[in-house]
Amino acid sequence: MDLNNVRTRFAPSPTGRFHFGNANTALFNWLIARRYGGVVVLRMEDTDTERSTKEYERLIIADLEWLGIDWDEGPMKGGEFGPYYQSERGGIYEGYTKQLLESGAAYKCYCTKEELDHAREEARSSGSPDVFNCGCRAMSDDEKIKKESERDAFSVRFMTPKNDKIVLNDLLRGPIEFDTNDIDDFIIARSDGSPTFLLTNAVDDALMKITHVVRGEDHISNTPKQMLVNRTLGLHVPEYLHTAMILGQDRTKLSKRHGAVSVFQFREKGYLPESMVNYLAFLGWNPKDDREFFTIRELAEAFSIEAMSKAPSVFDEARLHYLNAYWMKTIDRSRVVKMWVDYLVERGYVTADESETKRGWIERIVEISAERVKILSDIDEYADFFFKDVESYDEKGTKKHFSKENAADNIALVKSELAAVEPFNHDGIEKMYVRLKEEKGLGANQTIHPVRLALTGKTFGPSLFELMELLGQDVCLARLDRAEKYIRETSATL
Ligand code: GLU
Repeated sequence: MDLNNVRTRFAPSPTGRFHFGNANTALFNWLIARRYGGVVVLRMEDTDTERSTKEYERLIIADLEWLGIDWDEGPMKGGEFGPYYQSERGGIYEGYTKQLLESGAAYKCYCTKEELDHAREEARSSGSPDVFNCGCRAMSDDEKIKKESERDAFSVRFMTPKNDKIVLNDLLRGPIEFDTNDIDDFIIARSDGSPTFLLTNAVDDALMKITHVVRGEDHISNTPKQMLVNRTLGLHVPEYLHTAMILGQDRTKLSKRHGAVSVFQFREKGYLPESMVNYLAFLGWNPKDDREFFTIRELAEAFSIEAMSKAPSVFDEARLHYLNAYWMKTIDRSRVVKMWVDYLVERGYVTADESETKRGWIERIVEISAERVKILSDIDEYADFFFKDVESYDEKGTKKHFSKENAADNIALVKSELAAVEPFNHDGIEKMYVRLKEEKGLGANQTIHPVRLALTGKTFGPSLFELMELLGQDVCLARLDRAEKYIRETSATL
């Protein structure tokens, strides 16, 4: 495998958000280019003018940037082989379509959709073994002239040669042989004149001097067609590598019904780019040892095509979560704080102003919550009580801690003792608790667990004295007061 001067590319269509699978192939293209000292190109495949939008393009670029996947040529970078937007390359595709038509390697098809559907149906019911080709392929010149006078619109079909073999030497899968009799006369230009992916993508790979096309397994059936197009045009045919499929837990192709599938959705859930990249790399590659954690730079060093696998991978969010827990602990704390702040403001836990004025306080909350908040959305479960009132008490905890004899009295006692703690900080609170234990023999079951439940609504969490200090005296007293009343009012039913 010659990987000198390797040129790879990712070629998203800006017709939707950047999919998990797109990110996986983009990462592999990037890793190959970085590992072997080559170039990676970003090409926008925006020929579908109805579905492509500038907004999707912007969002795809934002997702790539967020993941840390950069490119050497393409939008915002320029390069020798541009333009890198297919919408700006119409003349090039027209030229090649014309060349194929003139050389007889392609032909005009005048069939309407209805005619094609009908003919296809007939071919199917007569048990025709060959792939379906319409009558336009074999039309005589006279017929062509007649059709042309009757109909304005035509599409252009590539005339797939009969009785030939195409061998795709997939870098991961080895040789895959295709019988050209199984390949239809595919459309290279639609009746509105717009070129199709099979032409544009193949031609651009050649013109942009792409040496290795790395893309999902779902493109395998397109590859022999694109090899045919390039060969016929006398253009360079790149090497191909079709990456492993990503499946959902039910082992069907990962799709929307499996939940989050776009990079953005994972970002919204609070995953770090470090974890995403680390996880994505392992969908189709592994280091062949027991290392689990890699930054994108470390991946670029450890990566090799030989260590890639064609076995489908099953998407496992628990694994992504596990990696996130690691990266949350590992990355710079100031970045974690910044992410928390963004999340807190976005979800309305604090205002933008408060996020500035209370920065030190938030930093301390981040610090003491680090063990539990493994992904930003864990804030909702483990740290919400710092920012909003307790709306309900954990059910099991209520049964266990609020139904005890003297529960309300114990809470009332802690409340009055806390009111006298001065200054109201961890050490002061701890001293008060030590004294309660020594003087009244009250232990965790009486004064810690029910108080935690009263202050947080939960039965677990960070150190009670620290969280009390962070909640502040007034909030603690108000919440204890409320819990005491709640227990007295409901004690009969607890
Ligand atoms: N625009 C195509 C896609 O998004 C590119 C496929 C390829 O990498 O060749 O599926």
